[in-house]
Amino acid sequence: MREIKHWLDGAAVEGTSGRQLPVWDPATGEQQAYVVAATKEETDRAVASALKAFPAWRAASLSRRAEVMFRFRELVDANRKEIAALVSKEHGKTEADAAGELARGLENIEFATGAPHLLKGGYSEQASSGVDVYSIRQPLGVVAGITPFNFPAMVPMWMFANALVCGNTFVLKPSEKDPSVSLLLADLLRQAGLPDGVFNVVQGDREAVETLLSHPDVQALSFVGSTPIAKAVYEAGTRAGKRVQALGGAKNHMVVLPDADVDSAADAAVSAGYGSAGERCMAISVVVAVGAVADPLVAAISERIGRIAVGPASDPAAEMGPLITREHRDKVAGYLAGTTADIVVDGREAPVSSGPGFFLGASLVDRVSTDEALYTDEIFGPVLSVVRVDSYDEAVKLVNDNEYGNGTAIFTRDGGAARRFQYDVVCGMVGVNVPVPVPVAYYSFGGWKSSLFGDLHMYGPEGIQFYTRSKVVTSRWPDPATSEVDLGFPKVR
Ligand code: NAD
Repeated sequence: MREIKHWLDGAAVEGTSGRQLPVWDPATGEQQAYVVAATKEETDRAVASALKAFPAWRAASLSRRAEVMFRFRELVDANRKEIAALVSKEHGKTEADAAGELARGLENIEFATGAPHLLKGGYSEQASSGVDVYSIRQPLGVVAGITPFNFPAMVPMWMFANALVCGNTFVLKPSEKDPSVSLLLADLLRQAGLPDGVFNVVQGDREAVETLLSHPDVQALSFVGSTPIAKAVYEAGTRAGKRVQALGGAKNHMVVLPDADVDSAADAAVSAGYGSAGERCMAISVVVAVGAVADPLVAAISERIGRIAVGPASDPAAEMGPLITREHRDKVAGYLAGTTADIVVDGREAPVSSGPGFFLGASLVDRVSTDEALYTDEIFGPVLSVVRVDSYDEAVKLVNDNEYGNGTAIFTRDGGAARRFQYDVVCGMVGVNVPVPVPVAYYSFGGWKSSLFGDLHMYGPEGIQFYTRSKVVTSRWPDPATSEVDLGFPKVR
């Protein structure tokens, strides 16, 4: 069986702990590989390697760092098919979906190539007589990224593209469920000219994360995953004095007003609810149907579900793949078993073009009550709940009362209503007739409430802020002949 290795000091390295974690092929249900979870010593070694590489990488010119990103961008572009195939093989998503993930990841690499401009500071000449004041942004040192299974290529790129180009060195702890892509990316970074030790990968689970969280040489941590772990990582990391941004789970509501175009809204709900089998943090999981739109909308969604082809990525006709593990598939199916609401389409009965992987068809559940687990839990699977409300105000209250605030969307033909929604809603990312409003790379990504712990969102301008700290210099070059002692408080006028 294939071992998926660590990446330390510019080379793949076998694990030593003997603690093997299985990597499944979700499309067949068979184990295809394993990772050996990193010990504390191995994680320490990755940090030591990153620490050693930091002074030289920090000293590399801005254009040199950007040049590595340009080359990396070309290499990722040239290897799109291979990377997407690897994502599909371990995650299970279709190759078209994996290619989409990669394309959105590439945006972040492209954004990072602009770092020489993004890292410009400010300069104020003559802030006082003969005195200039200027600000500069400097890298933090060794920073770490801990990533979830659902975007094994894109989410690491959200983090390391900006972190590296800002002059930091990086330790990635990818999800143990689909860890191979991290090594492919590490090798492409090496080929792009990134010096050894600047980017390291430690495979593993909680033990590796805990080592990073308490390591005195790790300055900052970026985390993406489920809310309970995000909260715990944020608390432990900040307690240890680190800068932390920890993005958590979601329960994204799509509000459909009575004037919306029913076919467009149904297309959007099906695409955003079942794409990637619902395993997206920006997936729509609740459709909030306002007033009379509910009946035609539920009919239009269920009619479309009947046409979704469920199957493995190897089947070119497949539109929706399996879930990540057997346990997760069974957990998601358990919500269907446990609901007393109206199951309009039951994904447990859906035909699948191959077995016996971790498949579950798309489900639609109507008249879901807000106090049942189907509504309150993040399900992270192909289950769309419909909650019926009578008014816009009720719809907004529902979104705002929810524990999560990652993404939300409104479907309407009324510009005034959309504008009011954007103003009223307590949520980090909003779509107007756009069901998955993942910001482009030159904005930043982040939710509110229990969807993000920390102050700065990920990637884009806030990513640059996260991975640097600012220094302000006040400078004077006086003529020694005019120098004198002055015990008064420095004045500028
Ligand atoms: P997860 O929380 O189980 O794991 C995320 C990472 O944390 C993995 O690298 C994992 O090894 C590590 N981890 C797991 N348990 C840990 C523990 N006890 N202590 C320390 N580290 C631990 O998440 P997942 O199942 O891989 O991913 C799905 C979740 O991620 C969903 O909740 C989804 O909404 C969320 N997600 C959020 C965003 C976002 O941007 N907000 C994006 C993608 C995914």
